[in-house]
Amino acid sequence: MTTERRSIETAAVHAGERRPGPDGSLVFPIFQGTVFESEPGEAYDEIKYLRLSTTPSQVYLHDKLAALEGAQTAVATASGMAAVSSALLSVIQTGGHMLVSDVLYGGTHSLLTDFAERLGWSYTFVDPADSQTWKTALRPETTAFLVESVTNPLLRVGDLRGVAEFSRENGLVSVIDNTFTSPVNFRPVEVGFDLVLHSATKYLGGHSDLVAGCVVGSTERIAEVRSVLSHFGGTLDPHVGFLLARGLKTLAVRVKAQNANAMALARELAAHPGVDEVYYPGLESHPDHARAAELFDGFGGMLAFRLGDGQRAERFIDALTLPYRAPSLGGVESLVTQPVKTSHSGLSRADRERIGVTDDLVRFSCGVESMDDLVADVRSALDAL
Ligand code: PLP
Repeated sequence: MTTERRSIETAAVHAGERRPGPDGSLVFPIFQGTVFESEPGEAYDEIKYLRLSTTPSQVYLHDKLAALEGAQTAVATASGMAAVSSALLSVIQTGGHMLVSDVLYGGTHSLLTDFAERLGWSYTFVDPADSQTWKTALRPETTAFLVESVTNPLLRVGDLRGVAEFSRENGLVSVIDNTFTSPVNFRPVEVGFDLVLHSATKYLGGHSDLVAGCVVGSTERIAEVRSVLSHFGGTLDPHVGFLLARGLKTLAVRVKAQNANAMALARELAAHPGVDEVYYPGLESHPDHARAAELFDGFGGMLAFRLGDGQRAERFIDALTLPYRAPSLGGVESLVTQPVKTSHSGLSRADRERIGVTDDLVRFSCGVESMDDLVADVRSALDAL
């Protein structure tokens, strides 16, 4: 457990580190053992066993994750979806009801639409920017409120302070997926969220080479999440945990470079006559700019824009030389996608258009390449249209 708070760059490098490390090692090693010798009188959940997330490499990683989010404690999970499912299973029982954001990552959305009923849960989609929808949907059996810090792909920012406050006033557990923002740009615990989760596959890992997740919060709430995880078996393996801890050390410098690249690209795109609309919370024209500026330390590395029609979007992506055409996000390499063909391909055209995912929409995940090179690449692809 740690509550130490330093600048995020320093915390990323030093938080959670053991000094001196085992045998003086600067790098915390991978303790691969599944089981460790018990102390006399040790309680069951103190036993060091890998699936219980209690072994030394796991505890080291948890300390680092908790410090970055400014939370009491953390637990790492085998994927972002393991973080989502364990967090939800820890806050809702059979017969329980949740308020959930009406724009959610596709996997979380289908977890609810495909599995909630068989688990005996119900939920109501609400607009995270409109508190009237929360009040209308609240029921005596409502126990939790789930939102995302920034939505995909239009990068909307809800009334996150309001969600945390409303949850507290009504006895709900507030849960937020902070994947898109990363703790460099936003630490939801500071505005009163109870549980913060991540797909660590994205910014936290940062190199497109691991799948992991985490949930952070108070010691009591994380004990519940850990209990779910231990029983459902979604624990993170220490080898992957090692890669994640290594990625975390450069999180702040990576995300700051990604913020700057996204801002430069958003400005370039907004000024180009061939681009219809640009969605980036750092632009004054974004509907949630004021809210993002108040809540966040940086506007993130993701942006989206419209190019008029699907074929122009396709030709633009073909003409780029630096970004990879790939879904996912948050890695050191820039990625570009048409959400209509990837993250939102499972939705009907009507549902897609209702949430603004049109054929001409392009989503860009900025990497840490040189800003000048990225801007030049995007400019020449646009000029060629
Ligand atoms: N949450 C968000 C916002 C995501 O974008 C993703 C994956 O894209 C997930 C959760 C699920 O993460 P994972 O793929 O690590 O299970």
